[in-house]
Amino acid sequence: MSSARPSPATTPSDEPRSTPPARVLVLNSGSSSVKYQLLDMSDSSRLASGLVERIGERTSLVRHTPLVSGGETRERTGPVADHDAALKAMAEELAADGLGLDSPELLAIGHRVVHGGKYFTEPTVIDERVLSEIERLIPVAPLHNPANLTGIRTATALRPDLPQVAVFDTAFHTTMPESAARYAIDVETADAHRVRRYGFHGTSHAYVSRATARLLGKAPEEVNVIVLHLGNGASASAVRAGRCVDTSMGLTPLEGLVMGTRSGDMDPAVIFHLMRVGGMSADEVDALLNKRSGLVGLCGDNDMREIRRRISEGDERAKLAFDIYIHRLRKYIGAYYAVLGRVDAVAFTAGVGENSAEVREAAVAGLEGLGLAVDGERNAVRGGGARLVSPEGARIAVAVVPTDEEMEIAQQTYALVGKDN
Ligand code: ADP
Repeated sequence: MSSARPSPATTPSDEPRSTPPARVLVLNSGSSSVKYQLLDMSDSSRLASGLVERIGERTSLVRHTPLVSGGETRERTGPVADHDAALKAMAEELAADGLGLDSPELLAIGHRVVHGGKYFTEPTVIDERVLSEIERLIPVAPLHNPANLTGIRTATALRPDLPQVAVFDTAFHTTMPESAARYAIDVETADAHRVRRYGFHGTSHAYVSRATARLLGKAPEEVNVIVLHLGNGASASAVRAGRCVDTSMGLTPLEGLVMGTRSGDMDPAVIFHLMRVGGMSADEVDALLNKRSGLVGLCGDNDMREIRRRISEGDERAKLAFDIYIHRLRKYIGAYYAVLGRVDAVAFTAGVGENSAEVREAAVAGLEGLGLAVDGERNAVRGGGARLVSPEGARIAVAVVPTDEEMEIAQQTYALVGKDN
């Protein structure tokens, strides 16, 4: 392409040349940890990443990795009293690499916020009204939203002039029709207490469903995808033409698939039974189902590598845990096949989905009649980016698509507040 106009770089000017700021700091604030990444959205490169863990303890850990100019990971332990101190530690680490928070190149801070309810359907620039709405959602996200709020308030105090953007885990699922989002309980009672299916891991489902379309050489609007996010927490979603139409997590992340420590689906009457007959309190049942169930409850381990190792040594409990995990997964694949009517791809992502060839193989074993199969050789390949593991010419693509929630949060933040928009 040729142009008669001089390029901006050769235009004489007294003004110093400046490029618009394009760095986005992504923050994921948990109750006792902060994870961060600094990205440059002018070329989607990663500049640094790190985390502060065990905040409030004497043995807090600060780990920082510069991702430019071959820097090495730095790690130190020692007391980090609170989130304020954690973000200051992060700021110091970034500054040591010349990437300080005072840099004019920093455009915005993007925050992962777990629960946005029905209200937040899009990434949103945070103001007082947004803060109070996130606060109003605490009863439905008692563990996550308070920590997310603390992260936002602390980051705002550090750079009050910067846009702070909330990217909600629930947002991608707000397109679910009422038929999928409502529980079949009394409507007035449900509405009075905001009881409905919200879904989580939305940032991952959004990223992976789009990346799967890209892998197939199609636009997101052209494909129907079942996304299986199998990490320690796990969820499935049915995505029609780029929009979520169903997902397996509900009011909280407890519903759906068998997870590392969570039960997933169960007859709700199990809870009354444990309270009435087992003498357990609501908090005890809550802890049982969220922390001592799933794979860990079934066999004592929640790491799929360890479970596979035990199975290879003939361990029956590990085998049963694996079989229950796979049985539930297959039920969701079948259910979402029926929800979508036509499926173009099944995408596996997150720690288990990206790494466990055995889980992928077992999840679609015997489903050739539905058009689903994995190719043994392709499925056994380890690592690499997004890739197909189904046989050549398969009716439905089975894919491994590494998730990248930080990139998705940075992209959404940049799309909202970047100069060119
Ligand atoms: P989360 O973000 O939910 O904590 P991840 O997506 O990081 O979880 O997944 C963590 C899980 O991934 C581990 O508990 C383990 O079961 C599984 N995992 C990680 N690496 C492997 C591997 N090589 N093979 C099988 N499973 C793996």
